[in-house]
Amino acid sequence: MPDMVCDVAIIGCGPAGLQAAIHARGKKTTVCVFGKPEKSSVYRAHIANFCCFKEIISGKDLLEAGKAQAENLGAAFITEDIVELTTENDRFVLGTENDRRVTSKALVLAMGIARKKLRVKGEKELLGRGVSYCVDCDAGFFKGLDVAVVGNESAAASGALTLLDFAKEVFLISKELNVTKVLQERLGRSAVQLLEGTWVKEILGDKEVDGVLLTNGDTLSVKGLFVELGAKGIMDLAANLGVVFDAETFSFIETKKKQETNISGLYAAGDITGEPWQIAKAVGEGCVAGLEAARYVKRISGE
Ligand SMILES: Cc1cc2nc3c(=O)[nH]c(=O)nc-3n(C[C@H](O)[C@H](O)[C@H](O)COP(=O)(O)OP(=O)(O)OC[C@H]3O[C@@H](n4cnc5c(N)ncnc54)[C@H](O)[C@@H]3O)c2cc1C
Repeated sequence: MPDMVCDVAIIGCGPAGLQAAIHARGKKTTVCVFGKPEKSSVYRAHIANFCCFKEIISGKDLLEAGKAQAENLGAAFITEDIVELTTENDRFVLGTENDRRVTSKALVLAMGIARKKLRVKGEKELLGRGVSYCVDCDAGFFKGLDVAVVGNESAAASGALTLLDFAKEVFLISKELNVTKVLQERLGRSAVQLLEGTWVKEILGDKEVDGVLLTNGDTLSVKGLFVELGAKGIMDLAANLGVVFDAETFSFIETKKKQETNISGLYAAGDITGEPWQIAKAVGEGCVAGLEAARYVKRISGE
């Protein structure tokens, strides 16, 4: 895949990301938006409380209209998950699930909230004692140990590949793996042991994780289980950048009034910044984040 360069990169194409794209394009910066519309919280919702619509509107229709509007203004949409995020020479560097490398001057995080609990016995009890929701935060604790990752999408596949640098054996538990060909090939060439067609029934262990009981009846002897459902969430992606999270729940990105995070050029908008989880808040914050990201680009470019 060829490399891409843009002024403002936006991760997320829900209401927050779309509004950020519309406003950043309004300031004539180049804009690229990443994500999958069907993964937005609003995709299957019917909305009755969003200003200016008298009738109930479908979330899918709303997203399609927002995307068409942003595309008409010149924003580029890339229907891929971001699986890596770093910085290099004052630029943000994004890695997609198709191995595309994208460099941007400013970045808006609009990835919504991750509802990534497995909801099985042992998950809550062993959290932080072998159960983790963030490979990039916790992989180092499992040096030389056997671990498993559970999930069907890009977060699970890329998480399992990352864990190979730390753990002894890495198992990937998946009902049905749904990842890009590139990730599939990387997994195929790797030492990750794919256990497809099964799922986690129970996490075993008293004081710490000792194993995982699978729905096919097998027991896997592992010291860690990484729950990586869906796309990579904020914890994974932001872990390397040193983004500050809210002190109370450590789940949402702290922003200032203009949606700035603690990192220059990095903005956040929508559900990712905390409650209320509402479209009106998401588009309001997206608007501010898009404008501010564009202003930042102009400032550092001396315009
Ligand atoms: C069932 C339901 C009903 C709802 N009803 C209402 C309602 O009536 N009124 C209302 O105001 N709100 C409602 N909401 C809440 C509303 O959907 C959210 O507040 C809103 O969608 C938040 O927008 P967002 O852009 O922050 O996140 P989202 O809309 O969730 O979008 C997140 C985006 O980030 C992308 N993404 C995530 N991780 C990655 C990654 N690693 N790489 C690339 N892309 C990534 C996803 O693909 C997605 O496009 C409802 C929610 C649900 C679940």
